[in-house]
Amino acid sequence: MKVQAVVQEPPKKDVRKPRSENVGLDQTGAFFVDHTCIDCDTCRYMAPDFFKRKNSQSAVLAQPETKEQRLQAFQALLSCPTYSIHVADKDREAQQEAEESFPRNVYGLDNVFHCGFHSELSFGCASYLVTRPEGNVLVDVPRFVPKLLKRIQAMGGAKYIFLTHRDDVAEHAKWAKALGAERIMHVGETNAQQGTDQVEVKLEGEGPWPLPDGSGDMQIVLTPGHTEHHCCLVYEAQKVLFSGDHLATDSVGEWTTATSPDKGKLGITRRFNWWQVGKQVESCEKLAAFDWVHVLPGHGRPGSVDDAADRKHQIQLLVERETARGLGHLEFDHSGIMPE
Ligand code: SF4
Repeated sequence: MKVQAVVQEPPKKDVRKPRSENVGLDQTGAFFVDHTCIDCDTCRYMAPDFFKRKNSQSAVLAQPETKEQRLQAFQALLSCPTYSIHVADKDREAQQEAEESFPRNVYGLDNVFHCGFHSELSFGCASYLVTRPEGNVLVDVPRFVPKLLKRIQAMGGAKYIFLTHRDDVAEHAKWAKALGAERIMHVGETNAQQGTDQVEVKLEGEGPWPLPDGSGDMQIVLTPGHTEHHCCLVYEAQKVLFSGDHLATDSVGEWTTATSPDKGKLGITRRFNWWQVGKQVESCEKLAAFDWVHVLPGHGRPGSVDDAADRKHQIQLLVERETARGLGHLEFDHSGIMPE
C-alpha cells in the first residue's frame, strides 16, 4: 500500500508564513517554522525542547525563554538547510553569538565539532570537523558560509575533506578550494555531474584505508548498502564513528516510537535506502568489530553506546529487527510518513 504525505501546501505567497502548528507567536522574539520545512529533523535534535514534529513538518511547540535556550534555538535556525525557521524580532546579538558558536563541541570531546549550517544541497546533512596535530579533517561539508570558513580556518583549516557518499557532497569544491584541502571519496561514489570526479584521492577496492598521509588514528571503512560504495570514518583516538547515512540512532523515528524499547538505539533508515538493505545490514555487522562508542551521522540522530559490549548488542538487535522485516529486494515508498 502506498502511503502519501499529508502536508497541506499553502498558496505560494504564504510559504514563508508561520505554520499554524507553531505556538506562542504573540511573544516578543518568538521563533516559528514556515511551510518550506523539509522535515529533516535537524532542529528537533538540536533544540528538542522547542522544535517538534507536527503534521509531517517541524513547528515550535514551546518558545525558548532563557538566554541559553534562545542560543540553542538560534543554532537550530542557522542549521536549518531550507531557512524555514524564523524569529519574529531581530536579535542581532544572540544570532551573532550562535554564528560564532560553530563549529561546536560534541559529546564533550575536545577536538570533535559539529559544523552546523546544514546545506539543502546535501538534503540537510550534518558535517563535522576533527582537529588534530596531524592535520584537521572535515567530514562531509556544511553550507558554504564565509563566517564559518573563517572559524574553521582559525581552528587550523582542514588537510582532508572526507566525503562519505554521493548524497552529502554539497559545495565540496568550494570548501576544498577555500581550505586547500584534499578530498577523499570512494571512486564508486564519484561522478562528473557533482564534480566529484575531480576529488584528489579516490579510494579503490574494499579497504579499510588509513588517511593518505598514513596517520594511524583514523580508518576509512567501506560500508555498502545505503549507496553502493558508501564509506564511514572511524576515529579510534576518540572512539567516534562518522557514519554518513549508514547508521544512526532514532534517525527519523522509523524503527522506534516515543515509548519503544528501541528508542535511542542504533538503526538504519530504510525509507532512504537507495541501494540494498541487506548489504546495509551486513555492513553494520562489519562495523561492530571497530572500536567506537559515539555515532555522528550525516542524516539521523547522533548517539552513543555504553561500551564495546553494548555496541555489539545493539548491532545484533538491529540485525534481528531488520532481518525480521525482510532483507530481500524491496520496493520502497520514499514518501512514507514518519511518526510524530
Ligand atoms: S531544520 Fe528546517 S527543514 Fe529541518 S526539520 Fe527543522 S525546520 Fe524543517
